[in-house]
Parts: sequence; structure tokens; C-alpha cells
Amino acid sequence: MTVELQNPKLETLSPSRAGDFKTCPQLFKFRAIDRIPEPTSIYQARGTTAHLALQNLFDDQPDERTPERLFDLFREAWTEIRGEDEFEGLFADTEEERDWGVESLKLLANYFSIEDPTTFDPEDRELDMLEDLDGITIRGILDRIDRDDDGRLIITDYKTGKAPPERYALSAFFALKIYALLIRQRTGETPKEVRLLYLNGPTLYRLPIESHHLDAMDGQLRALWNAIDRALETDRFPTRPGRLCNWCSFQDICPAWADAEEPAS
Ligand code: SF4
Repeated sequence: MTVELQNPKLETLSPSRAGDFKTCPQLFKFRAIDRIPEPTSIYQARGTTAHLALQNLFDDQPDERTPERLFDLFREAWTEIRGEDEFEGLFADTEEERDWGVESLKLLANYFSIEDPTTFDPEDRELDMLEDLDGITIRGILDRIDRDDDGRLIITDYKTGKAPPERYALSAFFALKIYALLIRQRTGETPKEVRLLYLNGPTLYRLPIESHHLDAMDGQLRALWNAIDRALETDRFPTRPGRLCNWCSFQDICPAWADAEEPAS
């Protein structure tokens, strides 16, 4: 099946933005269509830096992948990126930045209680995925892919935020299942498992993958793409107020919250 793209604004869709549309179409519009910049939080800065450190850890020989080395890589990564515009003015003073660094290293130390990086070499890291799924173009960066002892592929996503309770974990796998679909498209192999590795916890959530799960995701993605196409044509992006609004950068300009500040009559 080929899906004709009606609006040239949407050329590719990332798993994250697909998740945004699913959660709140208006949030998707703010991010993917209007491209309104969002302020970087200290948590996002920690996530970006930790991802870089974990990625670089596997450049070293297995026996060098120690906690101390990971801490050094975090410091090096932060030194490298802290001058970028998006991190400007993030901390009030050097003490606040130091406290943030200490907290970040504590979080990174948790990594070693989840897995032992001296025992394996990833198949790939920070993998740029751009795949055409029969008319739908999906693009995203996959954190890590490994092969287990049986030669099967395992996809891992690092998370520095707090792990959701297990009953809510399934929805957190949405983006990873899209990545599993992209991997199947690229390699012809169905990954055996997707894993969410939460440093904050620490918690590891694992979801076994079967080919029919990916067929279902393919259908879901097509329905989502069509829904986005319709939203673009009609310029209708409904709001979905909920818990996420508490963390949404766009609450001030969101139609769902337009009257929130008005005095009661
Ligand atoms: S504030 Fe809530 S309803 Fe509005 S865009 Fe953000 S998540 Fe959606």
C-alpha cells in the first residue's frame, strides 16, 4: 500500500514525534509543524550528556569500561557541549552546575547495576535510521543494538528520567517498537527484544518482540500517518489535556489552557 503525502510539511516522521501525535496532536503541531523552540532543562542536559558518555564508553577496550571511566567520559562530554547555545544560562552559578554534575554521576553509577559493559560489544550505537516503509518515511536515532549469544538482535534505549510504574511501561515501548520495525525493514531480521534501561531507579524493562507485533505496529503507524495527514489538511490538531500538561513547555500558548489564568467571574 502506498500512502500519498498530501502536505509537503510532513516528509519524515520520527518515533518521538509519532508518540507526540498519539499523546496530544496539539503538542505534535507545536513541535513538528510550528517548530517552536523549547527551553532546555537540566534534565535534558543530563540526558544528552549521559547518552554521549554511554555511547563513547564502548569505544574503549572491554576491561577499561569501568565506572570511573564512564564518569570521566561524562565530564569530557559536558565540557565539549556546555558552551552550545541550548545550554546557555542553564545554571545560576558554578555551585549549581557542580551539584548537577554530582547528581549526574550518581545516576550514571546505577548503570553498572543493570548490565556489565565489559562482557559484550554492541553491534551498533547511535544508529541513524532512515527507512521508507512503503510510502511512509521514518527517521530516528537508535541508542544501541546488540546481538545476544544466539545471534538475535536486541534494541536498547537509555533513559535518564524516572522509570514509570510497570503498569504504565507498555506505552513507553511505543517508540522502541517502531525502531524494531525499522530494523526489520533494514536487515530482514525481527529483533528478539526491546529494552528500556532506566538509570534512575535503576530499572530495566524488557519486551519480547514477535514478527506479528511489528506487523501490528506497521498498521498503527500507517493509521497515525493518515491521521496526521488529515490534521494537516484541515489544520485541526486537538488538545488532549492530561498529566503530561504539567511538563509541557507549551502550556502558556496551548488553547486548552487559554482561560486557565483568567479570574473567576
Ligand atoms: S499543554 Fe497539554 S494539551 Fe496543551 S499541548 Fe501540551 S500536552 Fe497538549
